[in-house]
Amino acid sequence: MSKKKKNRIQLVKGMKDILPDEQLYWNIIRKKIDNFARNYGFFRIDTPIVEFTNLFKRTVGEDTDVVSKEMYSFVSQGGDKLSLRPENTASIVRSYIEHGMLNLPQPVKLFYVGPQFRHDNPQAGRYRQFWQFGFEAIGDNDPIIDAQLIAISYYLLKELGLDIEVQVNSVGDVNSRNEYIKVLKKYYQDNKKFLCKDCNLRFNKNTLRLLDCKNKKCQELGNDAPQMVDYLSEEGKEHFMSVLEYLDELDIKYTLNPKIVRGLDYYTRTAWEIFDCSSKDGKLNALGGGGRYDDLVESLGGRPTPAVGFAVGIERVVMKMQEAKVPVSKGRGCDIYVAQLGVEARKKSIRLFEELRANGFSVSENMSKKGLKDQLESADKKRAKYTLIMGQKEISDDTILIRDMESGVQEIVDYKKIKMEIKKRLDKHLAKNLKLKK
Ligand code: AMP
Repeated sequence: MSKKKKNRIQLVKGMKDILPDEQLYWNIIRKKIDNFARNYGFFRIDTPIVEFTNLFKRTVGEDTDVVSKEMYSFVSQGGDKLSLRPENTASIVRSYIEHGMLNLPQPVKLFYVGPQFRHDNPQAGRYRQFWQFGFEAIGDNDPIIDAQLIAISYYLLKELGLDIEVQVNSVGDVNSRNEYIKVLKKYYQDNKKFLCKDCNLRFNKNTLRLLDCKNKKCQELGNDAPQMVDYLSEEGKEHFMSVLEYLDELDIKYTLNPKIVRGLDYYTRTAWEIFDCSSKDGKLNALGGGGRYDDLVESLGGRPTPAVGFAVGIERVVMKMQEAKVPVSKGRGCDIYVAQLGVEARKKSIRLFEELRANGFSVSENMSKKGLKDQLESADKKRAKYTLIMGQKEISDDTILIRDMESGVQEIVDYKKIKMEIKKRLDKHLAKNLKLKK
């Protein structure tokens, strides 16, 4: 490697730059999230990226992969044990308790968009910093809320142009799940020799995760394993059936999958994952997942408060939108482009540009370019309706040229009347467009 190359500082492994071309997808996604939040009555929350490590140990679970292997943890200058958040729900629940949101009308409906950090093995669609958006409804037990959150996760991704499917399960409440884990342990105990190395390690501490191991042999074993739905309490069964009935009312493509257990400890009852169905090799890619977390608020010191939510990975959604060739618009373009030729014209132009911008015109420029040809090309790219051209002659005459970018016709106008002249033309343009649309 050359010395120069060696000295170059590169992107940290597992991290990703999101460049302007890709931002076109991110903008669409953000807009869609805002739209859904408005329609379903969710309010945005932003929590810090750094939290006390214990927050995640107590909620996500010390024995989960996320906490035991993947957290970016450190001791601060002040001696606090801190971590970069590996997910957002625990922080939101901390905030819900800390800000007394339990005194607000329930459920409190919140949504977030932000980066999460997991020191996992990087590969396509898996990063160490990745973004999630999520919706959380805290303070209601009603199965209709579960169904609505599944609906939000489903319709939102569908409206982004993706071919998706929801897989649903119930992981039960704590009591029925503990009963189930005993049965499951017994089943796997008898078949322990067929389990992969990881599952042998998980066997005692995280038995449920044996069900969603990707190893072929473990998957085959999982197919015949006892199922959680057979161990649900009467109330748990009824709740789950109601969720499914609401889903049936909606036009949602879902299947029951007894192996959906989710990777984090705090989940109770309804659990779901959303998969992309477009891959040619038939492999399903998880885009997001969610579930109830009825014990989480209490485990962090709040009063017992049922809750449900989901998270979706944005990089994976972008990847799938690109693969599906979802059309993205290059943005709105601009109405007016300011072009200049010569030293004096440049000075006057930067002032004019600021004035037009401050007066609310949709205006664009490329002042560092000196030639008119370059600037007209740039105006074309930005789909400007009109370009204002100022050269030495216009400076002397106190005029300016207005070029109609569609017809190429240019007119000289009095510089003092420029705003009025532009406005007149833009109004005419708008009226013409409206007539065409009729
Ligand atoms: P989880 O919080 O593990 O349930 O993940 C929810 C979603 O976040 C997943 O379905 C992915 O779309 C996304 N996600 C999780 N981990 C990563 C990662 N390391 N890189 C990129 N996306 C991720």
